[in-house]
Amino acid sequence: MTCLAGKVAVVTGGNRGIGLGMALALLEAGAHVAIWSRGGIGDKAASAMLTRKGAKAIAIGCDVTDEAATAAAVSHTLAQFGRIDACFANAGISASTASPIGQLDLDAWRRVMQVNVEGALITAKHVVPAIVDGGRGGRLVLTSSTAARSGIAQRSAYPASKAAIEALCRSLAVELAEDGITVNAIAPGFVNSDMTRRADPRLADHFRSRIPGGRLGDPADIAGLAVFLASDESRYITGQTLIVDGGYSIG
Ligand code: NDP
Repeated sequence: MTCLAGKVAVVTGGNRGIGLGMALALLEAGAHVAIWSRGGIGDKAASAMLTRKGAKAIAIGCDVTDEAATAAAVSHTLAQFGRIDACFANAGISASTASPIGQLDLDAWRRVMQVNVEGALITAKHVVPAIVDGGRGGRLVLTSSTAARSGIAQRSAYPASKAAIEALCRSLAVELAEDGITVNAIAPGFVNSDMTRRADPRLADHFRSRIPGGRLGDPADIAGLAVFLASDESRYITGQTLIVDGGYSIG
């Protein structure tokens, strides 16, 4: 089993869903984890974390679209753990309503771009210097989506935001290589979470019918790749988007 003992990971949007799955797996592998999100950690997640031995999780309130809050979250994480080795910029939202292009609500479109793209950018801007200061290299992992390639009718902001994430991933991979930091993106397919529970049920049916194994994903299905990408074993992989979708995209 991959051992991350002594390493410190930040997971934005780590209080539930895919981010919580990543945080729990990183903890299980021995890393200390700083969970950043606007809301707190539910009782169920908190008790799951208490069962981990040797590795500690802390929760820090942070809106990743707020630079000052993000800078403060870096300081808080360093004060608690003394270093940052890996950052999972995972926080994201989807559009709450569908709108045909002629009736597009630009503010709603901008909000998705702001959280998904600017939020990841602001996270990287403030975390990367802390990783560089450690002098040991590190990992930046972004969360994309298979939607970056497939597109979603009447919800163009979300796929556009994830395509931007993949471009950002490639640019930062080139830029940060000399600092020994690899940058990759995980692109999940359909994963059961609050985000997908709010979506039109026909979306789940569409995915289920096209996933060869017929099973929708769970956060734990994404978490193994997160642990691998945080580990030394992934050191020669950079600038890549790795799809975890149960085979949906080959169907
Ligand atoms: P959830 O809605 O379950 O979780 C979203 C997370 O992001 C929460 O922890 C939320 O915490 C956090 N978040 C949202 N806005 C902000 C913000 N401004 N600042 C800080 N944290 C924020 O969704 P998922 O777990 O499903 O999604 C996680 C990531 O995975 C997203 O980037 C999403 O686009 C991506 N993804 C999801 C897929 C799926 O099928 N579920 C498929 C492909 C990609 P809080 O609200 O407390 O701040």
